[in-house]
Amino acid sequence: MQGDPGLPGTALFPPPEERDALRTLLARALDAAREAMPGSSVVPCFDRAQFEGELARFTFASPMRLAEVLPWVVQQMREGNVQITHPRYFGLFNPAPAFPAELGEQIVAAFNPQLAAAATSPAAIAIEAHVIGEIARRAGLPPGSGGHFTNNGSEANFTALITALTKANPAFRQDGARAFRSPPRIYISQDAHLAWIKIAQLAGIGRGAVRQIETDGMGRMCAEALAAAVRADVEQGAVPVMIVATAGTTVAGMVDPMAACAGIARSAGAWLHVDAAWGGAAIASDRLRGKLAGIELAHSVTIDAHKWFATTMSCGMFITAEPSVLAESFNVTASFMPYDASGGIDPYATSVMWSRRFLGLRLFLNLAAAGWPGYASHVERATTLIGRLRARLTAAGWCAANPDGLGVLCAAPPPGAPPVPVIVRTVLASGQAWISAARFEGHDVVRICVTNGQSGDADADVLADLLAGAAGGEAELRHPARLVAVAPS
Ligand SMILES: *Cc1c(COP(=O)(O)O)cnc(C)c1O
Repeated sequence: MQGDPGLPGTALFPPPEERDALRTLLARALDAAREAMPGSSVVPCFDRAQFEGELARFTFASPMRLAEVLPWVVQQMREGNVQITHPRYFGLFNPAPAFPAELGEQIVAAFNPQLAAAATSPAAIAIEAHVIGEIARRAGLPPGSGGHFTNNGSEANFTALITALTKANPAFRQDGARAFRSPPRIYISQDAHLAWIKIAQLAGIGRGAVRQIETDGMGRMCAEALAAAVRADVEQGAVPVMIVATAGTTVAGMVDPMAACAGIARSAGAWLHVDAAWGGAAIASDRLRGKLAGIELAHSVTIDAHKWFATTMSCGMFITAEPSVLAESFNVTASFMPYDASGGIDPYATSVMWSRRFLGLRLFLNLAAAGWPGYASHVERATTLIGRLRARLTAAGWCAANPDGLGVLCAAPPPGAPPVPVIVRTVLASGQAWISAARFEGHDVVRICVTNGQSGDADADVLADLLAGAAGGEAELRHPARLVAVAPS
């Protein structure tokens, strides 16, 4: 890969003809990878020793030719990672990104706008604010709600906690956790995302401030247990600062009883945050949005665009019905930052980040291209496919442990089947589908999530056959002809 690419400056900023050639070369390599994807292995199939030997040659002692490096990198992406964009990746909430979002990446890379200050990127900031406003409206939050794009759901959830702490005690901004005479508490369900534990630590209130409330046997926060925990804390002199209702749990897609959580939050004077990082996209569908009833009561909401909204990673959103508390929480003024005399909102002064990329363009383009109806069919399709898998697997003796899990199925194998980790390993070893092992309400389950808007019935059937085969019993595969050959490269 050694060569003479000319001046270092030209290597970093090549002239137009060379840019053109490299772009074409890359586009072809990516298209080839895309075409080959359905027939390729979902799981990594690379020779680690060989890979490490090749990687070690990148000493950066002298320039290399991009025309050789780019195809090498694409090849490693094809072979050395789980293929998130594969139609039979039924995995964690990592989507096959929609194409408009992918184009958005290119625009952002070309202009590289800095969204820290309103004065420097008014157009980009207005586009993001417009999308946030539309999402808030669609979620049913009150007029005047605001917020911003975040790097991910964890940052949005962190923002929620800081904002809730500021609301509970304005001195928190200055004095941190010491502002609280009695210890602050937050409430999440046992099935909530575990990042909350880190978030409490980061916010300075400590992991011990998190109360994990038991679930109701169906993966939803038990409202009575929540009420009892809040009452007990108040009796012991602690301050209930925030209740987190999860709308679409990570393991099982279950939705906490949001209206009940809102009532408990209201009487305790606590902030209600709805963590709809994944499930929030259900607002797109008139058929499914009812499952999120109560989200409109939240003081703040987290939705990840990089999950069910299918943007590239990563892209979160923090939306709040109380944008003035958000602004108070993060407000600073820096003399060196451009000042917007027109009174535009400076994202650096209302959020965790300082430098910010134009995160929201990808969701803007997806929304523009598909409209809400397009997104509605995107999410409905996932739930339909889950329904198909549920029917196939229950017919084969499996048990659907989460009855109402949006686009996720937690399936318990039939009696006498090998343990779940063995079943999962068998499926992964086939290279033909990706699923994971999880625990739901004390049961070992196979977790199946539709994350790819292009997964079809045939893909679901291949997975059902693989699972039935791995579970033994009715072991024969019903559609062996469907099993595609796994390409060696
Ligand atoms: C994914 C997820 C998170 C974490 O979001 P990241 O974007 O991975 O940081 C938090 N809560 C829920 C419910 C999630 O599904």
